[in-house]
Amino acid sequence: MIGQTAIANYLKFSGHKSIDLKVALIDCDGILYDSMKNHTRAWVKLMKKNGIKCTRDEFYLYEGMTGAGIIKLMFKKGVGKNITDDEAWELYKVKGRYLKELGEIPVMPGALEMLTKLKEAGIERVLVTGSREPSVLERIDNDFPELFSEKRVTAHDTRHGKPNPEPYLKGMAKAEAKPNQCIVIENAPLGVQAGHTAGCFTIGITTGPISEKELTKAGADIVFKSMEDFVAALPELIADFKETTR
Ligand code: MG
Repeated sequence: MIGQTAIANYLKFSGHKSIDLKVALIDCDGILYDSMKNHTRAWVKLMKKNGIKCTRDEFYLYEGMTGAGIIKLMFKKGVGKNITDDEAWELYKVKGRYLKELGEIPVMPGALEMLTKLKEAGIERVLVTGSREPSVLERIDNDFPELFSEKRVTAHDTRHGKPNPEPYLKGMAKAEAKPNQCIVIENAPLGVQAGHTAGCFTIGITTGPISEKELTKAGADIVFKSMEDFVAALPELIADFKETTR
């Protein structure tokens, strides 16, 4: 019941007759890890060192863009300077060092349970992240053992960051699934937009300061207030998807 209206709206909008759920395409930052607080702190430090005024909040809105994309945008906006991709990726390494200095990033409470429930329901779990942050990517197999498919999409596989649908389209292609066989699990507006544009039923979870309204506006089919809320609702939501294939 929990997803009935959202599913009906998705089917109407997408033109699909059912959601034949086989694959969950799962974002990393703000979903698997409570990492956005540290990311935004590291971003602000990098910008201030380069004489660019900014607030932490704006980096929550840019989440999902490539690191170089964010840096180029901020330099243009902040000091009117066009910088090259190479310069931007060099600066991204500095941001990575600041991030490391802030200490170990905690696993998102409930993320392990979410993955376990998806696995028990026979749904393949595919990581889709725009990140190329090695300190986070290397941890996934240790923190979530045997919970992820070997198929994964990172910044190394994609040319465009979110909100371009490319990361989710690549995830879908790797899993050999169609849009109505996938759900996208996201926390950021640009990520939600990417999942929605890729044609998947997109679940937004607010795990930071971004409001539920922002995720709905970005195209989320359903929004949960926290990871714990989503985990609690997941069995019922999966049952609702099954109803559409009967
Ligand atoms: Mg995220």
